Amino acid sequence: SLSDRLTTTFKNLRGKGRLSEADVDATIREIRRALLDADVALPVVRGFTGKVRERALSAEVSAALNPAQQIVKIVNDQLVEVLGGETRRLQFAKNPPTVIMLAGLQGAGKTTLAGKLGKYLAAEGHTPLLVASDLQRPNAVTQLQVVGERAGVPVYAPEPGNGIGDPIAVAEGGVRHAVEKQHDIVIVDTAGRLGIDEELMQQAADIRNAVTPDEVLFVIDAMIGQDAVRTAEAFADGVGFTGVVLSKLDGDARGGAALSVAEVTGKPVMFASTGENLGDFEPFHPDRMASRILDMGDVLTLIEQAEKAFDQDEAEKMAAKITSGEDFDLNDFLKQMASLRNMGSLKKMIAMMPGAASIREQLDNFDEREVDRVEAIVRSMTPAERTNPKLLNGSRRSRIARGSGVTVTDVNQLMERFGQAQKMMRQMRGGGGGMPGMGGMP
Ligand code: GDP
Ligand code: MG
Repeated sequence: SLSDRLTTTFKNLRGKGRLSEADVDATIREIRRALLDADVALPVVRGFTGKVRERALSAEVSAALNPAQQIVKIVNDQLVEVLGGETRRLQFAKNPPTVIMLAGLQGAGKTTLAGKLGKYLAAEGHTPLLVASDLQRPNAVTQLQVVGERAGVPVYAPEPGNGIGDPIAVAEGGVRHAVEKQHDIVIVDTAGRLGIDEELMQQAADIRNAVTPDEVLFVIDAMIGQDAVRTAEAFADGVGFTGVVLSKLDGDARGGAALSVAEVTGKPVMFASTGENLGDFEPFHPDRMASRILDMGDVLTLIEQAEKAFDQDEAEKMAAKITSGEDFDLNDFLKQMASLRNMGSLKKMIAMMPGAASIREQLDNFDEREVDRVEAIVRSMTPAERTNPKLLNGSRRSRIARGSGVTVTDVNQLMERFGQAQKMMRQMRGGGGGMPGMGGMP
């Protein structure tokens, strides 16, 4: 996976301060492969990585991150930006009703979306009306009526002798009906064919011209893969749309279609459809999609937290101490522990690291209360004892054990581990400094 490969890249780059062209290219090769794996269209991958490369080479160097992490952050920021930045909300008409038209291939999920959107908007206090302008398939109207019933949202459908066979007349009739009955939102379901088709495009364009929607949502199946670009371009040219809805994100599609469509059309993805039930629907979150596309676990969250928890001064002091030959003492140990806590739950943090799957078993056996115990023990020591652990004879150890509510054996075990950590720190000395590792952790 990308996580594993990036972990390797991270290792190779560790300790270097600046982003060299070679570093950037090595990391971008991995990103390119991951984007192709996620089914992002090839021309989109090329354009995208080109922009990332440019940004990476002119980036400010961050003290908190190593070069590979910096590139990943740039990639992520760029992904989020292309996907639309902040979640884009529906634009409501100044004079209701707001008209929302759905367009897309047959089977994309339009009719299901009409129900989901209707239910979602009704829950927000709106009074939506669904309009059945798909007259192409014999049971399309019935399907919308069933969906409307489940959503608890009324449906405007053509009646015998009233607009049958004319989807444009039905759309217009639906909007008129909404004005009369004071529905503040109209959702127009339309027909789709299995492939892009002139007649279908013309019909959708005619509906759009007839009802001048405030939003035209292009619904696209996330599983469509490399065809996303061609389909999106055809709908952008033939009908035009204001936003994208990605459906069937509950499947194993990695969501590359989102990036392809957003990059090619410049339109934001607004909603994600994640199942057959009406509740399986949510506003689209560009940042979540970015990490889904890159499949980096939560490596980005980790990067963010590292940036937050990183205390430049503290790290420099620590590094200076180590290189100067001073001993790493229990006060440092305590500080290290505090900065770990800053990074949130230790267990959660470890679980987010790339390759965490391989240490799942150890993780399950890991007891977070152990960190609390260790901290309690160190806190029960006097400052002198922390600076000079050699002072810790038997009677001091039993005093500490009593003070921290543990056994003397616990104290002895901690001191043994601390001794090992201290030895490691001594070995690191002269080896280039940097933040001490977690060698002292239980
Ligand atoms: P339309 O032809 O564009 O109107 O598509 P439909 O709404 O009729 O959906 C086609 C099929 O896809 C139906 O069987 C839906 O139940 C299913 N479907 C729609 N949206 C989703 C989704 O987000 N996830 C899954 N798994 N199935 C969906
Ligand atoms: Mg339909």
